[in-house]
Amino acid sequence: MIVPELPPEIRELKARAARFVEEELYPAEAHIAERGEIDRHEIHDLKDKARAAGFSNYNVPAEHGGPDLPMLAQVAIEEEGGKATNGLGFIVCERAPRELLELASPEQLERYVLPTLRHERQEAWAITEPGAGSDVGAIAATAERDGDDWVLNGEKWFVTGGDQADYLVLLALADGEQTLFFVDKDAPGLTLTRTPRFMHDPYLYAHPEFRLENCRVAEANRIRGGGGEGARKWFTVERLMIAARCCGAAERLIDLARAWALERRAFEQPISQYQGVQFPLADSLTELLAARLITYHAAHEFDVNPDAKIVHGKAAMAKLYASEMAGRVADRAVQILGGRGYMQENPAERHFRELRVDRIWEGTSEIQRVIVAGGLFKRGIAPYVGWEAP
Ligand SMILES: Cc1cc2nc3c(=O)[nH]c(=O)nc-3n(C[C@H](O)[C@H](O)[C@H](O)COP(=O)(O)OP(=O)(O)OC[C@H]3O[C@@H](n4cnc5c(N)ncnc54)[C@H](O)[C@@H]3O)c2cc1C
Repeated sequence: MIVPELPPEIRELKARAARFVEEELYPAEAHIAERGEIDRHEIHDLKDKARAAGFSNYNVPAEHGGPDLPMLAQVAIEEEGGKATNGLGFIVCERAPRELLELASPEQLERYVLPTLRHERQEAWAITEPGAGSDVGAIAATAERDGDDWVLNGEKWFVTGGDQADYLVLLALADGEQTLFFVDKDAPGLTLTRTPRFMHDPYLYAHPEFRLENCRVAEANRIRGGGGEGARKWFTVERLMIAARCCGAAERLIDLARAWALERRAFEQPISQYQGVQFPLADSLTELLAARLITYHAAHEFDVNPDAKIVHGKAAMAKLYASEMAGRVADRAVQILGGRGYMQENPAERHFRELRVDRIWEGTSEIQRVIVAGGLFKRGIAPYVGWEAP
């Protein structure tokens, strides 16, 4: 099956997420546009509301009290989150760090992961370094064993949520092996050095930089068997979710541009009458449908295909296509909205800026192409299209 129908309970959940975004997050966006900054109290209240409405931990397995929604359902919710700007969508798609549930020891579960599920603690992922972004294999942060401890040195950049987190999931080279560690934010030797501003600001999360100088963590904080594999799993899921959010953003942008095209008159008729306005909208809708299908397909494959490498390749295709599609759709929407599309109070202006990062983070477009091409040369076409000529 290429894309299954969303079951009624998932459609209902998606519809509720859509209502939450429209009724709660769109007004919050307007407040941010007016003030030029995020009001943390407002975000806190919105998070409480979203959690009470069940939009949290929905990827958590039943043994930890979650509904364990299939990936297809998760992308259906994430699409709705993608419609909001300023990163507010993350409030309605607050997935738990499921990879950590699988990787952590029972003791690490108690100290880090379960408190995170209860919203008592918050994590941030620290993989990227000044000298290693796309090339994760080039990370230079080191962990050296010293008795019962590990001593960490290095630098980590672009740590999303690192400002608000109280621990980092940090990748370092331990005895030459890429290894994940839980590092408490108040660990001696760990310093938040800088909080740069980004194109998408004001944004729900900052992306600070950290320095580790003889930062000492206990052996009990080392994530066993994780490392590269753990990071890969995290990337696959996050890439799928980026694809879904891009589809949601594109849907909102097409809706805004369509409404404006019908309303706005120029040269004595609605601009929707001009092919110069119709064709970009037709292209946008067509590309959105293609992106949604590939995203839903990759999500469904995540649920049913036991071959993690094929799923990884399909998630890369979804992220590549959907993020580039959303960039084009945002550009066309701004053009159709004219000068109003360039005003910060207009969601199209915000999406135009904010969607740019989706072609960069969690692996650039070029890296997605490297993954897809690598899979094609190694395995051929058949496993990706699910069909082999007789
Ligand atoms: C807002 C934001 C939030 C982020 N959040 C996090 C986070 O929470 N945790 C984290 O660890 N990281 C995070 N990142 C880092 C992000 O994943 C990296 O920026 C990204 O992977 C690209 O790495 P780089 O910036 O070092 O670019 P580089 O790797 O230096 O790439 C520069 C250019 O070279 C191209 N290039 C590189 N290699 C190849 C190749 N083999 N073939 C063709 N082209 C190539 C790239 O596509 C790009 O165009 C975040 C980044 C941003 C901007």
